Amino acid sequence: MSHDAQDEALLAAARDAFAFFTVRFGPVPRRRFSLVEMPPEFGAGSGYGESGYVLLGPGAFEAGDGSAWLPGGIAHEVAHSWWGDAVHFRDFASETLAEYATLLFLREARGEGAALDLRRAAVERWAAEAGPGGGIALADIRGFGEGIDPGVYRVHAYEKGMMILSMIGDAAGEEALGRALARFMDGNRGRRAGWTELRAALAGLGRAPAAILERWERPGVPRLRVEGEAKRSGAGFSFSGRLLLEGGEPPLPLPVTVAPAGGGKGKEVAIRSASTPLDLKGKGEDAGVAVDPEWRVLVARDPPGGRDPQEVFAEAMKAVNDPGQADPAILARSMEALRGLLDAGAPVSRGTCRIGIGRCLFRLGQHGEAAKELEEGLAAGDAGPFHRSWALLRLGCIADLAKDRKGAEERYRAVLGLPDAGNLEFQKGKARRFLERPYRGYREDG
Ligand SMILES: [Zn+2]
Repeated sequence: MSHDAQDEALLAAARDAFAFFTVRFGPVPRRRFSLVEMPPEFGAGSGYGESGYVLLGPGAFEAGDGSAWLPGGIAHEVAHSWWGDAVHFRDFASETLAEYATLLFLREARGEGAALDLRRAAVERWAAEAGPGGGIALADIRGFGEGIDPGVYRVHAYEKGMMILSMIGDAAGEEALGRALARFMDGNRGRRAGWTELRAALAGLGRAPAAILERWERPGVPRLRVEGEAKRSGAGFSFSGRLLLEGGEPPLPLPVTVAPAGGGKGKEVAIRSASTPLDLKGKGEDAGVAVDPEWRVLVARDPPGGRDPQEVFAEAMKAVNDPGQADPAILARSMEALRGLLDAGAPVSRGTCRIGIGRCLFRLGQHGEAAKELEEGLAAGDAGPFHRSWALLRLGCIADLAKDRKGAEERYRAVLGLPDAGNLEFQKGKARRFLERPYRGYREDG
């Protein structure tokens, strides 16, 4: 391994995943476990896991805590010690199981928000890649995608498979699914298995799981769209319309949660036909209707009704990025808008939303809450250098205010370590200044 800056963080994640899967799926005989960096030819982001080792593509050992490998990528490869090595596979079902194991581990290691992000990314990637032809039937996938476009293979083997297991976990109970997978593991140790055997184990969990399998193993991309009108009503609004299922015959065998995107009570809606009446009451401004805000159902969705989420995002971030903006009402409204986008699962950078919320809280003097949002924004991994620089700078300021000078200096140096770019100069200038003289308060130092 030529770069060892991050080997500790990667090894720790691998160790944690190993312990977690041992409890879930039973022990695998393994006394040593190695992480190996692959030569550059394999390309960044590539990986492979098998018997007691994980191979990671170039860059994995340098990328730091924001590395795409932490902790999900590592967990996926570690999971192949069970699904791939303890049980051998003749087809893609090992990827389905490794990705579902990753989902469980992410929730354990990073919280429900991280699991939601993985489900959301899975649904969106599948919706984008599987259409417009609608993809292929799972039973028609040969081996590990022989003869199939790699992108189309991936969204079926990994994303669609993982979501089917997640939906079955919701329908049958995660514990029942866990027991079925542990039994599947025991019954197939040292043997070769595939989708046929996994499918049988899942279908044995009852009628609801069997219906989910039947609905989703076929090709096609069911799509949900909200149509209707919101009217002001008291301090909030009431929405009346319908939920339209397109390209979705037959209907969905499990209910979908629908909620006012800006906050308010959601409800579970059974999708039994192409058009389902929908009535909702929301609080505050109408921010549209969020379909399945927790991303639990494998269904494509058109942007929620109401305002375009990109527009809402741009307006809120404009206030965040205006250094002179200190009006508490405007900051509160911007935070509410960003939180609404997060709750609605809008197609915007979650990390940037979190950092935006953190910067508003910082300006309002709520430093503890601000630090939490900024840290989570960085951990989300999808915010660009501009927003990361602000998060790091403000975390440094918060550390200074808490008299943690060492922690503060570390953050300021991280700002200076970001790439050379014009839109980072302002933040770097501040970081340099605060390295010389600790930050003492917003009014004084900006
Ligand atoms: Zn894999």
